[in-house]
Amino acid sequence: MKKTGIIFFPAFDWSLGESHPEREERLLYTQEQIFEEGVMDLPQIKQYSPNVADLFEVLRTQAIFPSPEEHNLDAHLIAVGSSLILGKAIMAKEIDNGFSLVRPPGHHSGATVWGNRGFCTLNNEAILVNHLRANYGIKRIAIIDTDVHHGDGTQDIFYYDPNVLCISIHQDGRTLYPGTGFIDEKGGPNAWDTILNIPLAPGVGDESILYTIENWVLPKVEQFKPDLIINSAGQDNHFTDPLASMNVSAQGYGKITELIKPDLAVLEGGYSIQGALPYINLAILLSLAGEDYSGIIEPQKPQRQEIGGQAFRSFLSNIKRQHDNIKPSWVIKKDQSLPAGDWIHLERNIFYDTDYFNEHRKDYIRKCNHCGGTVLVISERLPTFLKAALVRIPFEACDVCEQSGYDLVELYKKTEKTVLLQNQLKNEVHFWKDSREVRLFEPKNQTT
Ligand SMILES: [Zn+2]
Ligand SMILES: [Zn+2]
Repeated sequence: MKKTGIIFFPAFDWSLGESHPEREERLLYTQEQIFEEGVMDLPQIKQYSPNVADLFEVLRTQAIFPSPEEHNLDAHLIAVGSSLILGKAIMAKEIDNGFSLVRPPGHHSGATVWGNRGFCTLNNEAILVNHLRANYGIKRIAIIDTDVHHGDGTQDIFYYDPNVLCISIHQDGRTLYPGTGFIDEKGGPNAWDTILNIPLAPGVGDESILYTIENWVLPKVEQFKPDLIINSAGQDNHFTDPLASMNVSAQGYGKITELIKPDLAVLEGGYSIQGALPYINLAILLSLAGEDYSGIIEPQKPQRQEIGGQAFRSFLSNIKRQHDNIKPSWVIKKDQSLPAGDWIHLERNIFYDTDYFNEHRKDYIRKCNHCGGTVLVISERLPTFLKAALVRIPFEACDVCEQSGYDLVELYKKTEKTVLLQNQLKNEVHFWKDSREVRLFEPKNQTT
C-alpha cells in the first residue's frame, strides 16, 4: 500500500474548440469513474487542490516570447501549479507518489515558446523538474514519456542537460505528429546519451510495450540512477484512441505504471474520452496506490491487428543495436563572435501546428567538461520575423560558463529586440527589451 496524492484540474474554461480532441470533457468521465469506484475513499489516497504557478517557475525553464503578457496562460499556469503541489507533497513526505490529472497537457512545449504546439503551451513536467532541482537539491531526474506522441518539447528543454534523462516511447514519427523522436536524437555535447527515443510501429500492444520497458527503458534508468522518476502519462496508446494507432489496454497502462514506479505521473494526451480515459486513469491510480487493478473491465476490445511476438523482439533488438552504435556527429566551430571556448552549433525549424507558424532556431552550446555548459538560442518566429535570444546559465554552472552567459547578454542585447537570461545557477530570470532591462523574476516564496 502506498500513500498516493491526486489532483484534478479539468480546466473547464479552456478549450481549443468545441469539437477539438483536447476538450473540457477529457477529465469529466475519469472524475466520475474514480469517485464511483470508491477510490477516493481508500485510506491511502489524498486529494489536493489546484494552485496557480508563479511565472518565475515557468521562465526558469521556458522562454516565453515575445513576452509572457502576450499569451493567455491562465489555465496553463494552473496545470503547472497543480503538478508543483504534488511535487512539494512528495518532498514533504506527505505522500509516496502522486498523479496529476490536469489539462492542458505540456510535453510538446519546448525551451522557447511563441505559441501553442500539439495542444501544449507550458511544459508541466519540465517546470516541475527544475523546481525540484532548484528548491530541494535534487540532482538527477528521469522523465519517462509513455504518451503515443514523441515528447519533443521535454526533449528540447533538457537536450543539453546532463542531469535529466528523457526517455520517450512513442509511435514512429514517420507515421504520427510531431514527426520526430528517432534513435539518433541522443542529447547535446555535454549531455550525450541522456535522451532516449524508442519509436515503435503502429499496432504495438501490451505485450510488446511492456517488453520494451523491461528490456530497454528500465536498464537505462537503472544505469542513470535518478533520484526521482516522473512519468508523462499520456494515454493515447490505447486501442480506441482516435488520433493514433496503437493497441495498449487499461490493464497494460496499469502494468506500465507498476514497472516504471514513477514518483509522479502527470497526465499528457489521451483522446478516447469515454472509451479509454476513465479506465486507464483508474488503472494508473490503483497501480500507484499499490492496489489490484486486474478487475477493471473495459467495454471494448482491441480491434486492430497487433504487432508482437518474435517479430517484434527482433525488431527491437535491431533498433537497439543501431542506437547503441550511433556516435555524435557535430563539429566544433571556433566562432569569433561568441565568448571564448568551443561552441557547437545546431539549427532547425519547429512547427506550431495549433497556431500554424514556424520557428527557426539556432542553438549554440558551450562545450564544457565541468558543467552542463551555457546555451545560447537565437529564435525567430516566421513569417513575422520577430526575433529573440535566450541565454541559459545551467544549474551548477562552472565560473567560465557563468561568465560566458553574462558576456552573451552584453553582446546580444545590442542586436536583439528581446533577450531573456535564464540564470538557473543564481535562480533568477532577467528580461531585456531594446537593450534595456525591463523585468527581473525571482522566486516568490522559497520552499526551503
Ligand atoms: Zn499524445
Ligand atoms: Zn562549464
